[in-house]
Amino acid sequence: MKHYDYSELAVPGVRELMPYTPGKPISELEREYGVSDSIKLASNENPLGASPKALAAIAGELDDLWLYPDANGFELKQALAGRHDVDPACITLGNGSNDVLVFLAQVFLQPGLEAVFSEYCFAVYPIATQMVGATARVAPALPRDHAMPLGHDLRALYEMVSPETRLVFVANPNNPTGTWLDGQRLKDFVGSLPPHVICVVDEAYSEYADGDRRGDASTWLDEFPNLVVTRTFSKAYGLAGLRIGYALSNPGIADLLNRVRPAFNVNSLALTAARAALDDHEFITRSRTVNAEGLEVLRSGLEAMGVGVIPSAANFVLAEFGVSGGVLNEKLLRQGVIVRPVGNYGLDNYLRITVGTAAQNERVLAALRQVLES
Ligand SMILES: *Cc1c(COP(=O)(O)O)cnc(C)c1O
Repeated sequence: MKHYDYSELAVPGVRELMPYTPGKPISELEREYGVSDSIKLASNENPLGASPKALAAIAGELDDLWLYPDANGFELKQALAGRHDVDPACITLGNGSNDVLVFLAQVFLQPGLEAVFSEYCFAVYPIATQMVGATARVAPALPRDHAMPLGHDLRALYEMVSPETRLVFVANPNNPTGTWLDGQRLKDFVGSLPPHVICVVDEAYSEYADGDRRGDASTWLDEFPNLVVTRTFSKAYGLAGLRIGYALSNPGIADLLNRVRPAFNVNSLALTAARAALDDHEFITRSRTVNAEGLEVLRSGLEAMGVGVIPSAANFVLAEFGVSGGVLNEKLLRQGVIVRPVGNYGLDNYLRITVGTAAQNERVLAALRQVLES
């Protein structure tokens, strides 16, 4: 079909928008490169698969697929409320936490208003900000030689806040760096923000991180009415394909988020799976153990090759190669190994590698060794 250009008709925020670049799916790699037996360590998925309790629960849900899901997610919200010791009115469910990040932008931003985030932050923050025509105020990251290289600089973020600021996005641990923030310092930061600024603490990797070190913002909601904490079932719970995440906040904020939320944004399988996964403590414990071991294998293996590794409290490492990550990535793809080039984040000489199973970690290290020697 002839392709017409409608960009002149699009609202300005959308006209300039660059779509999110996802990790390459295995099926696409195998179709394009004619390779087989590929592995994907590109999207921070759980290499152990989905929570077995979630899988079992979904099976019982199939007979009811013809019914619309519970638009208010009653049972899941009850369980989450119990887990976080909050009222269900504090919860907003999303089609992945990406969904609630977009709701936040829709509710609190518009042209003339600003969102603050760090230089190397999750790509969805700038996309959501731009989509609604708001202005991004980007704080420089911590320097490469800092103890948390390329991580969030809370002082720099604070300095970006203006009377027009409505949202500050902070991820802890952060993606794509893996770095984390000291809990007390982050808490002081949230407390220092003026009341017209809402602080979004994105805890997508919280199940992997050591809570004592990085703090747990979900326990600070009573103290800070302008705090929003986002969580997801995509990472440690292994449910990325179902798309479910949530925000915890003061009910006054949740009420606004739920006004823009499409009524049936979370499907019935996702609601059921998430409810069951929440109680799958054994799976989370095993995931944490496998991840901790794998992180160490990747870190030491990469460092043995002379590759710089950024400290990580998540389920991936950001590795610095001193040569183009895009070129390395292309060579890895030919070996059936998918990792994540991060040139779109301004990190040209880096690759982000998700922790896999023991066998997958050995395979990516072997492939990298070969590529770096050739
Ligand atoms: C993966 C990730 C998310 C989660 O995305 P979903 O939409 O819940 O799958 C959110 N924030 C960060 C920083 C992430 O890396």
